[in-house]
Amino acid sequence: MPKQFVYTAQPTRVVFGADAWHTLKAEIGLLGAQKALVLCTARQRGLAEQAYGALGKSAAAIYDQATMHVPLAVVQEARVALTRSNADCLIAIGGGSTIGLAKALALGTGLPILAVPTTYSGSEMTSVYGVTESGTKKTGKDARVLPKTVIYDPQLTMKLPYDISVTSGMNAIAHAAEGLYAQDSNPMITLLAEEGIRAMASGLRQLQHQKNDVNAREQCLYGAWLCGTVLGSAGMALHHKLCHTLGGSFNLPHAQTHSIVLPYAMAYNASFAPSAMQRISCALQRSNQSAASALYDLAQELGAPMALRAIGMRAADLDQAADIAVAQPYWNPRPVERDHIRTLLQYAFEGLRPE
Ligand code: NAD
Repeated sequence: MPKQFVYTAQPTRVVFGADAWHTLKAEIGLLGAQKALVLCTARQRGLAEQAYGALGKSAAAIYDQATMHVPLAVVQEARVALTRSNADCLIAIGGGSTIGLAKALALGTGLPILAVPTTYSGSEMTSVYGVTESGTKKTGKDARVLPKTVIYDPQLTMKLPYDISVTSGMNAIAHAAEGLYAQDSNPMITLLAEEGIRAMASGLRQLQHQKNDVNAREQCLYGAWLCGTVLGSAGMALHHKLCHTLGGSFNLPHAQTHSIVLPYAMAYNASFAPSAMQRISCALQRSNQSAASALYDLAQELGAPMALRAIGMRAADLDQAADIAVAQPYWNPRPVERDHIRTLLQYAFEGLRPE
């Protein structure tokens, strides 16, 4: 245990395992709100309509154009819908993209967010927001965007396609893995991160065999909560910087990129954060393996994409990616050196077993 640390608890109310539609109205009442604007992607309109029906007179309107990476034009359009609806709270039903839109609206208005996550990426537990303008995603941290209430209903993730389940789950594991060696980590974060990785890996392994297993879905959501809480409380390091670079500058898909890069980021940091690595291997129930190798095997076992070239990265862009990744590095346990990062990217590009 470190001799000194600072721990700040995040004030989100978590309602786990409930029937979301039964609980929704009472929960917005507890927020002191009267009318909700329900946010979703076009694909998830059906769920938003169920929420709208369950809210009765507390439903103001639905805005169904939430989009990956929160484009500014979408935020502006949603703001108009919000003003017209006279809503005094936001309900985000979906994954990080929908919750991201709610955060962008809350940032400007201070309205409370109630999130009902339907993926495992953990965004609902953080005060990190991002809006994309002219191809650049501007991110920040602000307490106003942290959801006030999160309802985790495993039934709502039953239809999440298996591939998105896996990659959003690996995205969550990445939050926890980096939390274990973050500069501002603490014993509470360590506990949350270890249990989050254990729960997510075990839930995803079960899901692989039984895609409709509600217990597996429950494990994954439980893991998402814990891993998201880690990201909400501790800093990000090399892994997140690499993924932000690859997503932001080369338009690679978010969750898949996280899933591919994670073993290589762990290999890079291994000898500078040995205790974190040991905890990751144990949480994955592979204590005889390195964390990097255990994560690589987990992704392979689950059928996740394994190489950046398989998700649209071009070999010709690897040099530039290395330049950008080292230009303004996040704090990292190992110094971030351009040549080594270039090698890391080559391995990730080809999907080779990390060394
Ligand atoms: P997503 O929200 O982009 O959803 C992916 C797709 O799955 C969408 O088409 C969505 O409509 C669909 N979908 C979601 N739930 C479904 C369900 N239950 N059934 C069927 N389809 C469903 O996925 P994501 O990986 O959760 O979010 C990615 C975004 O979240 C990125 O923009 C990333 O930057 C952001 N993110 C932010 C944080 C943070 O702390 N701010 C953390 C993690 C991710």
